[in-house]
Amino acid sequence: DNGLSEADPEVRAIIEMEKERQFKSLELIASENFTYRAVMEAVGSCLTNKYSEGLPGKRYYGGNEHIDELETLCQKRALDAFHLDGKKWGVNVQPLSGSPANFEVYTAVLKPHDRIMGLDLSHGGHLSHGFMTPKRRVSGTSIYFESMSYRLNESTGLVDYDKLEEMADRFKPKLIIAGASAYPRDFDYPRMRKIADAVGAFLMMDMAHISGLVAASVLANPFDYCDIVTTTTHKSLRGPRGGMIFFKKDPVLGVDLESAINNAVFPGLQGGPHNHTIGGLAVCLKYAQSPEFKAYQNKVVSNCRALASRLTELGYKLVSGGSDNHLVLVDLRPLGIDGARVEKILDKASITLNKNSVPGDKSAVVPGGIRIGSPAMTTRGFTEKDFIAVADYIHEGVQITIDAKRAVSGSKLQDFMKFVASPEFSLKDRVLD
Ligand code: PLP
Repeated sequence: DNGLSEADPEVRAIIEMEKERQFKSLELIASENFTYRAVMEAVGSCLTNKYSEGLPGKRYYGGNEHIDELETLCQKRALDAFHLDGKKWGVNVQPLSGSPANFEVYTAVLKPHDRIMGLDLSHGGHLSHGFMTPKRRVSGTSIYFESMSYRLNESTGLVDYDKLEEMADRFKPKLIIAGASAYPRDFDYPRMRKIADAVGAFLMMDMAHISGLVAASVLANPFDYCDIVTTTTHKSLRGPRGGMIFFKKDPVLGVDLESAINNAVFPGLQGGPHNHTIGGLAVCLKYAQSPEFKAYQNKVVSNCRALASRLTELGYKLVSGGSDNHLVLVDLRPLGIDGARVEKILDKASITLNKNSVPGDKSAVVPGGIRIGSPAMTTRGFTEKDFIAVADYIHEGVQITIDAKRAVSGSKLQDFMKFVASPEFSLKDRVLD
């Protein structure tokens, strides 16, 4: 059997180009990271060849003795990494990613069209938490369940728990979801528990973005208050692309979460688990229990604080005024520009981040902010000093964007994008080039 270079030089070349892009760019997307070499080895192994529908010891295929050992090890490490007592908590490590994990929970504990409440997408929530527009039910969650989103207080940039309480009292959701994709602060779990209890709802935390920080005890522990905790495995946790669902072992609201969730994963929504991913995840969860991992997560937060305070010094408005975790959300609207234009300019200078809605935004296509995350560059050894330089580079990119916007004839985003792609525009002579 040939290696990739011989078998498929075209794909090999694309991988090499992507590797170079990752190597050369400043990777600031808050949901991305660089996983470990050992994880990549496990993910690229023979584990990908095996079918193993079911759970350890209860499979629908033969030849699973080693896979059983692997999945059991992965489950144990998952519980250990999050300091959980295996008598009280269980985990399913088979979800293919974060969105499927969330949908599996909904399928497990809700009936079609039951009510859920998650953070609004434009206020930092995730699509899978029930996003819909007045015209369209966008995500599967909002198609199959009735969703009413809670929001931030626009003046503080913090979750408006009073309003959430009021809305929950009226809407009577069966499930309340904590967690976000673009929220620079921690969640108030005791408060959310109280709100959920008052209306008889399950409380779930989607800790996808912050699971590394939770494992390292850098942020509050959602397991003290929630019934179910989901996560992706490839963001701050630094593992392979995948998902996990943690559940309380004792019944909650009369539901046996363990069997409901395991059944929702398989046969409910998935077939054979991706054993190569489970192998990589087991490796990542071993790392997650090391002192080096804890030190890394502390650096993720201190680097992000350094970035936030430099941006503040430079006059930027940050949603919520700063950050307690791994990301900052910059509101560019006071400068008369938007996140889409800044993202484009920074991309040209190999600075990779993403445009993001900020509270009060009118458009998701041309949102008023950018989201900047520290996990990936912290993995590559960046210090607080480096993140101060990153803030300065971003500032330079913003200045260039303002100049370019002035130079464009026409006010549409397309006109700007065309201008920036034309030979007329160059970053030459600018620091960023
Ligand atoms: N949950 C949150 C909070 C996320 O931010 C994301 C992705 O960014 C997901 C779930 C979905 O994960 P995936 O893209 O792996 O489906």
